[in-house]
Amino acid sequence: MKIAADLHTHTIASTHAFSTILENSFSAQQAGLTAIAITDHAPMIEDSPHIWHFNNLEVIPRILNNVIIIRGIEANIIDFDGNIDVPEYLHKSMEWVIASMHGPCITPGSIEDNTKGYIEIAKNPLIDLIGHPTTNEYVWDYEKGLKYIKEYGKFVEINESSIISRRGALENTVRMLRLCKKYEVPVIVNTDSHFCQRIGLTPVSFKIIEETDFPVDLIVNLEWERLKEHILSKHPDALK
Ligand SMILES: [Zn+2]
Ligand SMILES: [Zn+2]
Repeated sequence: MKIAADLHTHTIASTHAFSTILENSFSAQQAGLTAIAITDHAPMIEDSPHIWHFNNLEVIPRILNNVIIIRGIEANIIDFDGNIDVPEYLHKSMEWVIASMHGPCITPGSIEDNTKGYIEIAKNPLIDLIGHPTTNEYVWDYEKGLKYIKEYGKFVEINESSIISRRGALENTVRMLRLCKKYEVPVIVNTDSHFCQRIGLTPVSFKIIEETDFPVDLIVNLEWERLKEHILSKHPDALK
């Protein structure tokens, strides 16, 4: 089993990441991917690129090293009411929007607050994917929230970096996966790479997917055509 597209990758534009788009696309080709999304951090995090970075993503060729480049952003969830730190005008040029909770941008609330936060984000039409939703910092009620995420056509992320490096994320992800299986909530498996050689490689994620006997048809990014259909349904001007 392997992903066809890695939809969460960082470049040197976020300064705690260390590879260029060209290096990332080369590694993606080596890993046999069809596409990658470039998803650097939105403005509220201190080491994010200037907003012009996102305005100007169109200067990047659509295909680099035989890999399709999707123009994306990792937005910050800034409250428990469904808001992110991306100006509305920018959404028109974005082809893939991840919404994540990060320490500098939102103080963790109670389980009720965090659950409300994810439910309201699920309702936000501008978002495609909820990023690394299984950290210990932002505990939420999966059973309650996942129904809304499914109802509003969003995906939750199985985030390889988070599983490997964040305390509790592995156990939380297993718990969330079991409930995604129960309620048939689609997921996306990504690396969240901050260095090119990690792109496309998700062995730990696939191990827990196997161990939980998770249905492969709920993993949206195993097939490029299926993913492309989703992207175009939400971003009609994308991928031209
Ligand atoms: Zn993140
Ligand atoms: Zn990230």
